[in-house]
Amino acid sequence: MQQPIIPANEPERIQALVNTTLLDSVDEPRFDRLTQLVKLCLGTEIVLISLVDTERQWFKSRQGLDACETSRDISFCGHAILSDNLFEIADARCDKRFSDNPLVTGEPYIRFYAGVPLTIEQQRIGTLCIIDPKPRHLNEKERLVLRQFADAVEQEIGDRLQEQSHQKLAASELMQRSVLEGTRIGTWQWNVQSGETVFNKRWVEIVGYTLSELMPLSINTWISLAHPDDLVESGRLLEQHFAGELAFYDFKCRMKHKNGHWVWVHDRGRVVSWTDDGKPLMMYGTHADITEQKYADIELQAIRDQFQTLVDNIPGITYRCKVDSDWTMLYMSGSIDPLSGYPASDFINNAVRSYASVIHPDDCDWLEAAVLNAVNVKQRWILQYRVIHKDGNIRWVEERGQAEYNDNEVLFLDGFILDITEEKSLKQQLLKLTSQLPGVVYQYQQWPDGRRSFPYASDNIEKIYGVLPEQVKHDALPILDKIHPQDLPGLLDSINKSAATLSNWQYQYRVLNSTGGLTWLSGHAAPERMPDGSTLWHGYLEDITNTKQYYLELERVNKALKLSQERLDTASENALIGFWQASLDTGELWWSSVIYQIFGFEEATTTPSVALFKNAVHPDDRDMVIQSEKVAQETGLNDVVHRIIRPDGTIRWVHELARMLPVSDSAVATLIGSVQDVTERMQLQQLKSEFISTVSHELRTPLTSIKGALGLVNSGKLGQVPEKMFNLLTVAHSNSERLSHLIDDLLDIEKLAAGKMSFDLQVVSVQKELQHAIRNLQPYAKQFAVIMQLQLVPSALCIKADASRLQQVLTNLLSNAIKFSSHGATVTIGAKHEADKVNIEVTDNGLGLAPEFQPRVFERFAQADGSSSRQRGGTGLGLAICKELVEQMGGSIGFRSVLQQGSTFFVSLPLHQDSSGQLE
Ligand code: ADP
Repeated sequence: MQQPIIPANEPERIQALVNTTLLDSVDEPRFDRLTQLVKLCLGTEIVLISLVDTERQWFKSRQGLDACETSRDISFCGHAILSDNLFEIADARCDKRFSDNPLVTGEPYIRFYAGVPLTIEQQRIGTLCIIDPKPRHLNEKERLVLRQFADAVEQEIGDRLQEQSHQKLAASELMQRSVLEGTRIGTWQWNVQSGETVFNKRWVEIVGYTLSELMPLSINTWISLAHPDDLVESGRLLEQHFAGELAFYDFKCRMKHKNGHWVWVHDRGRVVSWTDDGKPLMMYGTHADITEQKYADIELQAIRDQFQTLVDNIPGITYRCKVDSDWTMLYMSGSIDPLSGYPASDFINNAVRSYASVIHPDDCDWLEAAVLNAVNVKQRWILQYRVIHKDGNIRWVEERGQAEYNDNEVLFLDGFILDITEEKSLKQQLLKLTSQLPGVVYQYQQWPDGRRSFPYASDNIEKIYGVLPEQVKHDALPILDKIHPQDLPGLLDSINKSAATLSNWQYQYRVLNSTGGLTWLSGHAAPERMPDGSTLWHGYLEDITNTKQYYLELERVNKALKLSQERLDTASENALIGFWQASLDTGELWWSSVIYQIFGFEEATTTPSVALFKNAVHPDDRDMVIQSEKVAQETGLNDVVHRIIRPDGTIRWVHELARMLPVSDSAVATLIGSVQDVTERMQLQQLKSEFISTVSHELRTPLTSIKGALGLVNSGKLGQVPEKMFNLLTVAHSNSERLSHLIDDLLDIEKLAAGKMSFDLQVVSVQKELQHAIRNLQPYAKQFAVIMQLQLVPSALCIKADASRLQQVLTNLLSNAIKFSSHGATVTIGAKHEADKVNIEVTDNGLGLAPEFQPRVFERFAQADGSSSRQRGGTGLGLAICKELVEQMGGSIGFRSVLQQGSTFFVSLPLHQDSSGQLE
């Protein structure tokens, strides 16, 4: 037996067979009808449509045979498909190829076989064959019939395939339609040449219409609805697609909805057929409503923009970079621009420069090491370093970052860079400032478990506590050791109190300083509670040793002052001296208790007032008081003794002393004064005066006779007096003259004080009076070998005065000048008129007046140096009398004097007006 050989194109042949989808399919009448007809027409027992598969032949239709397939090895058809011709075996028993074939030797005992190959897709996939169990020969007609039937079978297979593909197409079309409808996509077909357009229902629904509303449809329907701004771009894209540059027309545009709003549409399409001359003919496409998506996109973009703006506006730079030595940036926010002077785009992927290139060269290495170290131990980093700006300036930055890991692999670094140049320079300034402060600026922290530290302290802490800021940064103990043991408990207590109540801390305490002494410190601090339960104070400590000592001294002085005040109060009460104070600005007046006592006022019910004070002045003394106040306005000192009448009618003498407080002692003009009750003293004085006056009067008469008698005896008129007796009598006579002079003075004083001295004011010639005085004193001047000189005085110069009283004054002034001049010296006397006054001056070059004596010159019985004055004789009453006399004649008296150089006494008296004209 010969097995059928496998043809050369077997794989293609099998593929064609598989493509028919006939193998193992169900029986189909269209094939069975044909095999039945073949059986009838050709009268054969078996008719088969056999398909030759790889290992078998399978019968799509069979007549007269039960088996549905047999092995290809024993098949007749395997031979039949090897050529296009009809394969015919008249008697298989006589053919070597088949004689021992089991289908010949056994069921169905094949003798006759004729098969025509079935050709599909140029491949012989099987046969239409007839089989008989008895030998036979086909005639030409029969062969033609068999061939025709084979064609018919081929036709049926072709039809069947087409039907199948139609069915598939229909199914896929149905599917597509459902998909389109399901996705709510509109479709369109456009005849590009004619403009004729078909839109589906969904297309028109997208823009809110029904199909009928838009009839008749054309490309203008679309154009009229599309946004005018989008038409240009659409046209451009279409042209590109027509020209083959774009595979699809793909465009998102806006369409006007029936309700007036714009609908975003995704329009996609493709030319499906072309005209013979290559122009686009039919174009099919879809329309999808992407309004929501578009708005979501717009919103997303807006959010992205917002985020970008936000990132760009935060005062720092966010970045993501690779872990390489360039810090290659994958992202960097725009704020890098103001920091470095370069845009972020420069750094991203090192487009123009790397971030490492703007870092200060001195910071590059340690920075890289620090970041890599943090990355290795999976920790965040906070680092400060310098960046060099494009303009060359150095900016300080603080970078905070962390690495992103995938398992243990580092993906990238994320971080944030902040420009801290300002803070850095502010910090620097602050440090400079705090170093300028005399005290210590510090932070002190205390934890509930008793730990204490000074997280910050300015350098001055060394000056105050003798420790460096670092030494107490973590433990405050070195400082606590320096605090005075007596002050430490109180200090700690005050700190604990401040911590408990969060009230400001303030304390003064002592510290043992390096020289073994004590420093007084004053501290002020504001507490703040920290999240870990500790308390942090921000404060200032200063050395107040000097101030403290000053205060301690002040306290001591105050105590002393208080004591002396008490003493003064007691003394003023004892001496009946009251004090008062008046503010000239506010009119405020204060009296001490003693004033009320002196004036007899009820302290509780009396309000001090100037009027009350003035009212009490005795009417006879008012003029004097007013006069004294006038003088006080010029000299700043009011010094007057006068009487007051108390409310009960009693009269008291008071000595008033008042002066303006120097401006430096008081901001406002203040008048301060004392009032002393001098009634007793005045009464005593009066008593004394009366006594002196009485004694003087009583002494005067007998003294006159003694003086006269002695004069007479000494004149020798009563006979020669023995020499020894003469000397004694001369002394007695001179003493009696001195005594008489004293008594005259005393009586004058008394008269003046009592206002009993009478003045006969006349017009007198100054020149004559001066000449008269010189003449009178010539003998006295001789005694002292002093020359008197009268300076030129206009003869017409006259004054109004009592001539004898004026002589008394001039005599006294000249005698003093002579008395206190040295031998051979000159005393001058002269006068000149000034305004409405005439100034008479007596000048000597003698002893002069000691400064400390000068204020007392015009006091009664005042003599500079008791012994020397007395040597020269005198009573100390002369100038006191002169002052009274001159003042009662409406003039004034004064002097200038320098010790050991001489003195000038001057008397000013009213000019007699008539003389002024003649003087010119
Ligand atoms: P006396 O009678 O003592 O001169 P006065 O009242 O005239 O009394 O003078 C008082 C005192 O003033 C004198 O004792 C003397 O110390 C001093 N004095 C007065 N005039 C002069 C003068 N020209 N030079 C120096 N001292 C004088």
